[in-house]
Amino acid sequence: VKIARTFAEARVHGPGLVGLVPTMGFLHEGHLSHVHAARAAGDATVMMSLFVNPLQFGPGEDLDRYPRDFDRDTALAEEAGVDVLFAPPVEEMFPTPPDTRVEVGGPASALEARSRPGHFGGVATVVTKLLAGLRPDRAYFGRKDAQQLAVVRRMVADLSFPVEIVGGPIIRHADGVALSSRNTFLSAGDRIAAAGLYRGLMAAADAVGAGERQGRALEARVRAELIGKPGVHVDYVELASADRVERLVELDRPAFLAVAARVGAVRLIDNVHFDPVDGDPGGGFVADRGIVLDTVSVLEVVG
Ligand code: AMP
Repeated sequence: VKIARTFAEARVHGPGLVGLVPTMGFLHEGHLSHVHAARAAGDATVMMSLFVNPLQFGPGEDLDRYPRDFDRDTALAEEAGVDVLFAPPVEEMFPTPPDTRVEVGGPASALEARSRPGHFGGVATVVTKLLAGLRPDRAYFGRKDAQQLAVVRRMVADLSFPVEIVGGPIIRHADGVALSSRNTFLSAGDRIAAAGLYRGLMAAADAVGAGERQGRALEARVRAELIGKPGVHVDYVELASADRVERLVELDRPAFLAVAARVGAVRLIDNVHFDPVDGDPGGGFVADRGIVLDTVSVLEVVG
């Protein structure tokens, strides 16, 4: 893997399509799944960016203790077949404090935005820099951050960025907990509690399969798994449209059922995505429940 510290270095690569996988590092199989997707799509050069973006952390959030391990990330990126690892120092990304910010309305104003004001402005600004500075043909994002995916899609459409945005499924630990770099801060007890998010989402997906369409009823399935659990504080549970991220009374279009909760010292988010089954006169929906690992995640390998 070639390590690039500047935009200019990263842009020197072979011919063919370029796929970009933006990350904040401390890699896991969720990040790596997007590398495999880029390969499978035929991208000749797979770039991964690794940058803990200060703009998307609010005051009092975990910027300072966000896990970082460059050697570990380099080894995992290399093994996954990343061609270019773009790991800029803060001075390359922000040589001077930027006077220009990208602010997205619509999908960036619901759910996470209520608990994390300014978060999506920080995401949009840095994703814009990555797209403009690296000029990928495709960029890959996880459905783990379903609202972020909607915000990026909206921004790219609104501003006519010549890039295709590709969303990939949520990769999960064997107990169903969505992989996240922050999971390294969950105690063994927290992990058991964290699996409640997954159980609730799967119960809701089962209910959709059985014909339930009411947003409140689906949200209640998730809450039922979390309410009263020690150390768990639910921030929100909401059924939202996939593109606009507007609350849905009824599941009648592509949507995701999202949950955010604090478990121990960690704020977790997770969701299940629903798509209408094409041409189904019965109005059926298919759930994207994510992919459960049958091996131990690299996040759990000590050393
Ligand atoms: P992060 O490093 O957490 O900012 O994530 C970088 C990218 O990886 C984002 O597009 C995330 O949505 C995606 N991602 C994070 N966790 C997962 C996961 N468990 N499954 C799939 N994609 C993920």
